[in-house]
Amino acid sequence: MNLNPTLWIGGKAVQGAGSFAVTNPADLSTIAQAPKASAAQLDEAVEAARAVFPAWSGLPWAERQKLMRALADAVEANTDELARLLCLEQGKPLKGFAGMGAGFEIGGTLAWMRSTAELALPPETVQQDEAVSIEVHRKPIGVVGSITPWNYPLMIAIWHVIPAMLAGNTVVLKPSEQTPLTTLRFAELANAILPPGVLNVLSGAGELGAWMSAHEGIDKIVFTGSTPTGQAIMRSAAGNLKRLTLELGGNDAAIVLDDVDVEAAAGKIFATAFINNGQTCAALKRLYVQDGVYDALCEALAGIARSVKTGNGLAEDTDFGPLQNERQLKIVEELVNDARARGARILCGGERTDTSGHFYPITLVADIEDGAPLVDREQFGPVLPIIRFSDVEDALRRANASENGLGGSIWSRDIERAEALAARLECGTAWVNHHAVIQPNAPFGGVKGSGFGVEFASAGLQEFTTIQTRYVYRNP
Ligand code: NAD
Repeated sequence: MNLNPTLWIGGKAVQGAGSFAVTNPADLSTIAQAPKASAAQLDEAVEAARAVFPAWSGLPWAERQKLMRALADAVEANTDELARLLCLEQGKPLKGFAGMGAGFEIGGTLAWMRSTAELALPPETVQQDEAVSIEVHRKPIGVVGSITPWNYPLMIAIWHVIPAMLAGNTVVLKPSEQTPLTTLRFAELANAILPPGVLNVLSGAGELGAWMSAHEGIDKIVFTGSTPTGQAIMRSAAGNLKRLTLELGGNDAAIVLDDVDVEAAAGKIFATAFINNGQTCAALKRLYVQDGVYDALCEALAGIARSVKTGNGLAEDTDFGPLQNERQLKIVEELVNDARARGARILCGGERTDTSGHFYPITLVADIEDGAPLVDREQFGPVLPIIRFSDVEDALRRANASENGLGGSIWSRDIERAEALAARLECGTAWVNHHAVIQPNAPFGGVKGSGFGVEFASAGLQEFTTIQTRYVYRNP
């Protein structure tokens, strides 16, 4: 395992101008010192990316495709090591609840790499006759800056960089300072395959992200993270009119109608609310349940919660790991304490018992209303507020009364009615009888405060291109 991580600039391993400690959230030990890039090193990385851009973008599509497939093979060959690194720095269990731990993230990473590698963007013909040919061509943008968060460090990096490179762009990637190690290891694997300068990876804190957003040599930023950081990036990206894809926070509502099969729904609701310990952008974060099934669903969810185990992710039987960092742990604690003080009912969890790491138990909070911070704000952790409603129109209004608009779901046996309600949710992805499921061949993105632009599939690939419309008249 590589515990002497380096930056990757112009195809070379480079020491950072400084360093910072990466902490294991399960026992608070230091895993490694990560390299901290300076502004001058960012300039070097951007220069390297610009220098190779003409050659890289000039390669036939099939050549880049071959290299993307080779990257997937390299990740697959190192699955165990990458999963262990993810577990150590992110906290997610190797296996985890319903098999959705570090192995799941690597599996997702591979699925997205392989699916994306097979995409193409052939020109579209608008008109073709004796006088003129009019075609719409897609061209790479140039140098793409990718800035990623700490919840799915490897998978989100892949979501950014594979379509960017496939489309012919070169990349400067900055992982979160909380979880840089898996991404730096990926950079090492990738740089053994790619031409030097195509994928540069620099670690550092928010200031490095801010330098990237303002850098005149970067043509586009693809960012996944919080809404305030997305707003800061948008402000500083104005200088050279950078293209932006912003995948920001969510506060997804689920509306459960009283005709559901409670037992069946409870399993899916639990899994999609607590996926990655709730640290998932499109996890189910506000659960609105109609009167008729409220008590039964609360009881079914509490039954599952009582059967799961939170602990160090390296242990085989751990379902949920720690929160990734102390800041997020404090947010979760404060939201639950506030809910308790308001008179909400804590069905399970709600108190830390193991303080050897950033552990917080799976927590269900019933009899809580909109207006409570636990409902109105994104918790991004293992706590779910359960809100009672009688009138479906009222629930829909409350679900939409959010600054965010990432995902949302309707749960009912009446599929037609559920889909009609889902269509009225103000969000980029709506599910009927599920939540938080995504796949590489379907676009994903937010509306309102959850950002703009989409990732995945052809629509996601197009975001790494500009359009050139070509009018070719046959006679001068
Ligand atoms: P964050 O915004 O604090 O950090 C994300 C990244 O931005 C990090 O790499 C960080 O160093 C960098 N950064 C910080 N300040 C910056 C600045 N001024 N300019 C440029 N970059 C800067 O977010 P986080 O705490 O890492 O992640 C949690 C948040 O991300 C949650 O709100 C969650 O909902 C959101 N998220 C969204 C999605 C999605 O697809 N919509 C996916 C995962 C996470």
